[in-house]
Amino acid sequence: MVNRERLVEQFMAMVRVDSESGREGRMAAYLKEKLAGMGMEVYVDGAARHTGTETGNVIARLRGNLAGVPPILFCAHMDTVAPGRGVEPVLENGVIRSSGNTVLGADDKAGIVAVLEAVQVLQERQMAHGDLEMVFTVGEETGLLGAKFLDYEGLRARMGFVLDSDRPTGTIINRGPSQDKIVAQVTGKAAHAGINPEEGINAIQVAARAVAAMRLGRIDEETTANIGLISGGVAINVVPEKVSLSGETRSLQEEKRARQTRAMCEALENAAREAGAKVQIDVETIYPSMYVPEDAEVVRLAQKAARAAGLQPEVQSTGGGSDTHLFNANGIPSVNLGIAMQKVHTTEEYITVDDLVADAAYVLSIIRTAAESA
Ligand code: ZN
Ligand code: CA
Repeated sequence: MVNRERLVEQFMAMVRVDSESGREGRMAAYLKEKLAGMGMEVYVDGAARHTGTETGNVIARLRGNLAGVPPILFCAHMDTVAPGRGVEPVLENGVIRSSGNTVLGADDKAGIVAVLEAVQVLQERQMAHGDLEMVFTVGEETGLLGAKFLDYEGLRARMGFVLDSDRPTGTIINRGPSQDKIVAQVTGKAAHAGINPEEGINAIQVAARAVAAMRLGRIDEETTANIGLISGGVAINVVPEKVSLSGETRSLQEEKRARQTRAMCEALENAAREAGAKVQIDVETIYPSMYVPEDAEVVRLAQKAARAAGLQPEVQSTGGGSDTHLFNANGIPSVNLGIAMQKVHTTEEYITVDDLVADAAYVLSIIRTAAESA
C-alpha cells in the first residue's frame, strides 16, 4: 500500500532541506506547508522562546473519521547533527546515502517521511482512523530541547510513538536511562613554571588525579559514565590555574545515576582539597529515565501492529536518550520505535529503501490497529 516511489522522492527532497540543530526554520516552513496541504491543522508552539532555536515545534492534527478510537501521537525530530548543510542524497542499489561530506539526516527525517507517507495512504484509500497528532521537534540532538519545552497542554493523545531509534523496524524501546551532565571548573594557582613553581597549584594535575580516581565507562548493566571534554592551561611555562572538564552519567535507575554522579563529584572535591585547589561543579539532570511496562496499551499496540505488518516485535531497553523520555515524563505513555537508520551521526549514514518502506508500513499499521480496537 505504501507508495515506494513517492516515499523515496519525499525523503530525498526532505533531506535536502537544511536543518542542523537550532536552524530548523526552513524545515518547519517546509513541513507546515506539506501538512496543511494534506488537510491537517498545523501550528508552531512557543518552544523557541526557551530553546533559542529558529522555530518552535511543529504540531499537526488530523481529525479522525471513526469515533471511539483513542487519539495517538507520532513524533520525530526536525533537526540533524552537523555536518548537515547541503545534503546531496545518492540512491544506489536500493540504498540512500549522502554524497559523503555530510550526514544523510535519515536521523530523523526517515521518521518524518514515514508518518507523512502513512497519512497519504490513509487518505487516498479513505481508511477509517481515529484522531492523529504529530509533533515534529526542534533541538533533539542538543538536549531534547524541543520536547523539553513542548506545549503538552495542547496535546490530547493518550499514547505516543516516537520514530527515532536506529534499531531494526519492529523494535519497540520501552526503557531508557536518565542522564546527568557534569561541568566542573578546577582552579589552582598560576606561577612561573621555571622561577617559582612551588608557589603554583597545577590545575591540570588536580584534574588528572580526580579523573584517574573515577570509575568510568560501563559501571554496571544499567549504568554508564564518561568524562568527555577537558581543557585548560595557557602556556608550557605557566603552572596552569584553570581546567574545565565535563562529563555525564546515565542509568536506568535514578538512584544509581545519582550515586555515580556523586562519586565523580567527590573525586573532584577530594583531589582539589588535597592540592589546596578549588573546584566548582554544576550538575544538571538533562532528562529523566523512562519505563513503560510491557503490558501498557502503547506497547501492546506497537507489538500487535508490528505483527500485522509482518515485522518481528522486539521490546528492548536502550542506553540512549530521546524525546520519548519527555513524553513519558509529561504523562503521555510513549515508546521509541526502531526505524533502521544506519551509522547515524556520521557522514556514512544511510538507510535502505526497503527499510523506509517498512517504516511507513509500520506507522500505517499502528494507525489501523488502533482503529480496529474501536
Ligand atoms: Zn534522532
Ligand atoms: Ca540522533
